[in-house]
Formats: sequence, structure tokens, C-alpha cells
Amino acid sequence: MKAVEPRDIVTVDVEEWFHGHNYLEHAPPSTWDGLEQRVERGTARVLDLLDRHRVTATFFVLGWTADRHPDVVREIARRGHELGCHSYAHPEVFRLAPDAFRADTERALAALAKAGCERPAGYRAPSFSITPPVHRYLRILQDLGFSYDSSLFPIRHPRYGQPASPRRPFLLDGDGASLLELPMPTWRLPGLNVPFSGGGYMRLLPWPAYRFIRARARAQGQPCILYVHPWELDDYRPQVGLSATSSVRSQGGQDSMPRKLQKLLAQGRFETMGDYAARLRAAGGLPAATLTPDGWRPA
Ligand SMILES: [Zn+2]
Repeated sequence: MKAVEPRDIVTVDVEEWFHGHNYLEHAPPSTWDGLEQRVERGTARVLDLLDRHRVTATFFVLGWTADRHPDVVREIARRGHELGCHSYAHPEVFRLAPDAFRADTERALAALAKAGCERPAGYRAPSFSITPPVHRYLRILQDLGFSYDSSLFPIRHPRYGQPASPRRPFLLDGDGASLLELPMPTWRLPGLNVPFSGGGYMRLLPWPAYRFIRARARAQGQPCILYVHPWELDDYRPQVGLSATSSVRSQGGQDSMPRKLQKLLAQGRFETMGDYAARLRAAGGLPAATLTPDGWRPA
């Protein structure tokens, strides 16, 4: 594979605060329509920040949200950003049978199309939940016409970890027309992949530590694919009885987020996920991998 210079990418998972899996016990799906919806406000804040720094980003939108707030989808497109798919009902994909995963994804595509986004190129699973037991579902995404996926996070994590998965982009099963997988970036230490680029990691790491890890990962050729949620830029703090641990995961460091994001936006050189995928395909020579239950092998 030819060297493709790593850049920075901002991705936004467009969903409500109660879609976070830490809230599931306290705010089950049957209650969602009665809860305070904040996505318009949070997304507007993200869009204004991006505008201020002239950064174009990728927004993975939840079908549930697109159905209820199509204006949010249209506004993202109007401001020139890329739209992607973040499922319909925010399931943990590893809990779904294949037919249920396909049905959720088709429903999401229909909701996005209704809001004006006809053909998203990219998919990101809720909580990166396309884990080894359901890696074969990536073929369903390919069948449904996606050209890239951003659902693998090769780290240790109690819910979505998969430390043995590839750290670098690869083509699924080696077919030239196949899905391009863009794993979330990590800093490789002996025996350990260190995450840094997500909302929670960025919120909770002090800025100097975040900057250090990002620079080390960049030196290893990793792009900085940041992911944030509209609710992380919001000042709303729902009191729904989260445990102390869940509270730190979901709300910790939220006050620092706008400041950190502004610093990052002022420093980086940015592109969208779709542009990154296109650069990789144009450079050619992408490795091909077949995922196995305990890791992967070259295809
Ligand atoms: Zn999500």
C-alpha cells in the first residue's frame, strides 16, 4: 500500500443524549419520545464551530433522529458536510440477528432518504458494536451499497473492544469493489492499542495528554478520526439516576469539550471520511483482510 499522508477528520454521531448505551437502563426506547430532545441545539453548536474554522466534517445520523428532525439533516447538507448512517434505533449490533440488523439499516436508509440524503457512502455502528461475533454483518453493509465502514475500534473495552482487529484501513475479503473498513485510530504500545480520538476519551484526557497521544499515533501513520456527539457540546445535564461510573463516562469533562474541540479545529488539516476513503482507494494497493472470530487473516 502506498503511503497516504494522515490528516484529521471530525465525525459527529447525530443522536439524542438518551441514545447513549449508558442511559439504556434509565431511558429505555419506549420512553424516548417523551424525553427532552436536544439534538437541534447540539448540532447547531457543532456546525457553528466547524464553520468558524472552515472545517468540513462527516455526520453519521441516526434514522430515528432523521425521522423526527429532518431539518437537522438538511442543515448539515446545506452547510456542505458529508452525511453517513448511524443505524435507525441505535442498537448494539452484536445483540441483533442478521435479519434484524439488515432491517434496522434499511429503515435508517429510508429515513435518511426521506430527509434528503439519498445514498450515504459510510456507516458507523452505535458504540462500534460490529464486534468479532458479528463481523460477517459487514457483508450486509456491502450488499446495501455502503462503500466504507467506521465501526471497528481495535482496543480493549468491555462493550465494543476488539483488540485483535486490524488497526489500518483494509478492503473486506479482498474484492476490489468491496467495503473499505476504516478502523478508529489508536496509538500502538507493546501489547496495547491506546484509544484517544473519541468523545469520552477527549473529554476525560487532559489536553496535553490528548495532544501527546495524538502526535504519537500520527507518527505511526494514523489519521486523527475524532468522534463527538451533539450532546457533548450541550450544557444540558440530564439527571436520570446514572451510576457514578456511567455518569463519568457520559458527562465527565463535558465542560471542557467546546474548548478542546476549538483547539483541535484551529490546528489540524481536515478532510471528510468520504474524502479519506477516496484518497486511499485512489492510491491503490490497499491490503485485503478476512475477519475471523479471533482476529483476521490476509484475504
Ligand atoms: Zn451513537
